[in-house]
Amino acid sequence: LRSTRHIELELPDSKTYKEGDHIGILPKNSQELVQRVLNRFDLQPQAVIKMNGSPHMAHLPLDRPIRVMELLSSYVELQDSASRLQLRELASYTVCPPHKKELELLISSDEMYKEQVLRKRVAMLDLLEDYPACEMPFERFLELLPSLKPRYYSISSSPKVKANRVSMTVGVVKASAWSGRGEYKGVASNYLAGLRQGDTVACFIRTPQSGFQLPDDSQTPLIMVGPGTGIAPFRGFIQARSVLKKEGSALGEAHLYFGCRRPDHDDLYKEELDQAEKAGLVTVHRCYSRMEDEPKVYVQHLLNQDAQKLISLIEKGAHVYICGDGAQMAPEVENTLRAAYEAGKGASQEASAEWLKKLQDQKRYVKDVWTGM
Ligand code: FAD
Ligand code: NAP
Repeated sequence: LRSTRHIELELPDSKTYKEGDHIGILPKNSQELVQRVLNRFDLQPQAVIKMNGSPHMAHLPLDRPIRVMELLSSYVELQDSASRLQLRELASYTVCPPHKKELELLISSDEMYKEQVLRKRVAMLDLLEDYPACEMPFERFLELLPSLKPRYYSISSSPKVKANRVSMTVGVVKASAWSGRGEYKGVASNYLAGLRQGDTVACFIRTPQSGFQLPDDSQTPLIMVGPGTGIAPFRGFIQARSVLKKEGSALGEAHLYFGCRRPDHDDLYKEELDQAEKAGLVTVHRCYSRMEDEPKVYVQHLLNQDAQKLISLIEKGAHVYICGDGAQMAPEVENTLRAAYEAGKGASQEASAEWLKKLQDQKRYVKDVWTGM
């Protein structure tokens, strides 16, 4: 079963944000993962090392003593697919000829590398465990690792409710590893899921360039499309509308298209959305994809049913937002909108592309999308 977590952070008093902003999280590698490295190199977690910089070590804390545990937790990416350079180095430190050959084989052709390493997401650490005879020194291992990257999350709250409180809606990446080596756990989502109340998290706020924000005029109609964790920024939008309404602003109509697997499994923020609907803040259009004996229904199927109403709402000035999976969902939603325009207007494909581009230029059609790959 997949798990999605609602996580709230309190920012320092001087910091705030806008609905639609991203929060960047500086995660930590799990103890379990770090322990694998310690075991492989026969190191103690409390061991302290000091690195004198080489140009390849700019991403590491240099010229000061640091515990190996901290270094491995906070500075390096341990689960990225092994690069060709890493594979070459692994082979060069391997004395056993058959093993050396096996490692070299992985970079013998593009196809082999893509098939056996990239697609399976086999990391340098996996291979070091598979090849205990590889004598790569720990310093070289560190040098070859990329720096630990921040992960971004769409903020799922509004500062109008509480200026320095931020929430995230995090899909926890945890499944059988594509490499066939046990369970794969994503770094940041599992780090966030494992936090306890009162823990401190290193983070920063970033406003996306896309203009993914509420319109200035509260009466502008909104069409929000966000299946799964794509619902995140829209929760913030709806919270903002609730405060605006209490303050006496008139609100334009707002439609949220949300899709999930099953009502009893991942119908995120259901009660809150029910209340928001009752309060006249939003109309929720829901669909489910994994109901027994029923066909899959996706958000674009609902958009298709409502096509002409949506086109006319857009003509009245509505802003359209899409959030979530950028690999499949967002392009399919976009095609659905274009097809609706073409059918409604008797327009050509060129005309519908032009129509969408114009909306995009006016920041009335905006996307906040990401891919899992
Ligand atoms: P990582 O350690 O980064 O691992 C992920 C990688 O592992 C991916 O390349 C994936 O293809 C691969 N992988 C997945 N499953 C397996 C497997 N079984 N075996 C091997 N490899 C596998 N996420 C949210 O949940 N909510 C949000 O609101 C949100 N907003 C975002 C906004 C933006 C602008 C962007 C860019 C991303 C957003 N994301 C969001 C995604 C988020 O940033 C992270 O990418 C996601 O949480 C995974 O990070 P992780 O560190 O847990 O996984
Ligand atoms: P999700 O649960 O994967 O999907 C939400 C809903 O969108 C589901 O009903 C899903 O239906 C549906 N959907 C699937 N393909 C679609 C499409 N082409 N168009 C419209 N709707 C579609 O959403 P999520 O949890 O927010 O995850 C988003 C992305 O992150 C996905 O790419 C997912 O693979 C990745 N992720 C992976 C993990 C992991 O454990 N490996 C964890 C979190 C997120 P279906 O029943 O068809 O799936």
